[in-house]
Amino acid sequence: MTRRTIMALTALIAMAVIFTASAYFYRMRTFRRTDYALNTVITITASGSGAEAAERAAIGEIRRIDAAFNAHSQTSELAKLNGSPSGEWVHVSDELFALIEKALKISAKTDGAFDITLKPVSDLWAINTENPRVPSDDEIANALGKTGYKNIALDRDKCAVMFKKDGMELDLGAIAKGYAADRAAAIMRKNGIKSALLDLGGNVFAIGKRADGKKWCIGLQTPYKQRGQYFKKIYIEDSAAVTSGAYERCFTENGKMYHHILDPKTGMPSESKIKSATVVCPDSALADALSTAVFVSGEDGVEKIAKNFKNLKITVLLNDGRVMEY
Ligand code: ADP
Ligand code: MG
Repeated sequence: MTRRTIMALTALIAMAVIFTASAYFYRMRTFRRTDYALNTVITITASGSGAEAAERAAIGEIRRIDAAFNAHSQTSELAKLNGSPSGEWVHVSDELFALIEKALKISAKTDGAFDITLKPVSDLWAINTENPRVPSDDEIANALGKTGYKNIALDRDKCAVMFKKDGMELDLGAIAKGYAADRAAAIMRKNGIKSALLDLGGNVFAIGKRADGKKWCIGLQTPYKQRGQYFKKIYIEDSAAVTSGAYERCFTENGKMYHHILDPKTGMPSESKIKSATVVCPDSALADALSTAVFVSGEDGVEKIAKNFKNLKITVLLNDGRVMEY
């Protein structure tokens, strides 16, 4: 081989190495997309080829779910069901039926701490609006009369829902973000994504591991402290981690703080001694619903919930500062 041939070959090999390396790094490039839907900020971080397109598809799916299941939009499928009179079967989509059915099963297994029929009560409090207020006892008693998950009848064969009481309305706010995360993650996986983190306002879902091969680290926010101050870190892969806390949506009247997670038994913001409840499991809709249920159930109820469901990890921060794990 002449010197020239050796030099040409060396250059060729060097170019091949550079090309392969840049193709590899392109494939492993990380894309982050931030958007707003489901009344919350959504951030998706993904790596691998097609990450950008997969994120776009995932956001599209989240928007579709928002449009269908938002109880406060006039045009959603849920709003149409909510306007229906008692005693009449209303045909709904398979998807809405399945979500309501899942919610009712969770209610039964959490002793009613999770209840999607609370809308008449939460509307009174109007916490997610600019004018929240403390309703009177009479108003709450009247609204509570229109609630109760046992007052929903389901007909699986006809894919139909019936309200047993007048004025009933459903609010999927405590399960919809988790459900959307499940669906969005499924779409990203279908697009070939093997490493991603979806954060739907505290409803986190991890696909696989991080690009560097480590598990995803999720910081559990210390309530009422600056963002980023964590009382604990947890590590997840192929799993959801959902936190419910009173500190996210609340208002103060006459020196007392009122928040958005209601105790279905009283119609008042839950006064359990729990400051923050985190549920880790592969089913994000379940994790979402259960984080709300655990928050309401308090220290006594949480053990029962942990026993009633398999493959869960629950972390609870109590008002007195203790951190409990189940
Ligand atoms: P966030 O929306 O902050 O993530 P949650 O997942 O706990 O909080 O859901 C709270 C929302 O669900 C409330 O804004 C209200 O619409 C509804 N909700 C309140 N209390 C309950 C409850 N006990 N069971 C089911 N839904 C509830
Ligand atoms: Mg929830």
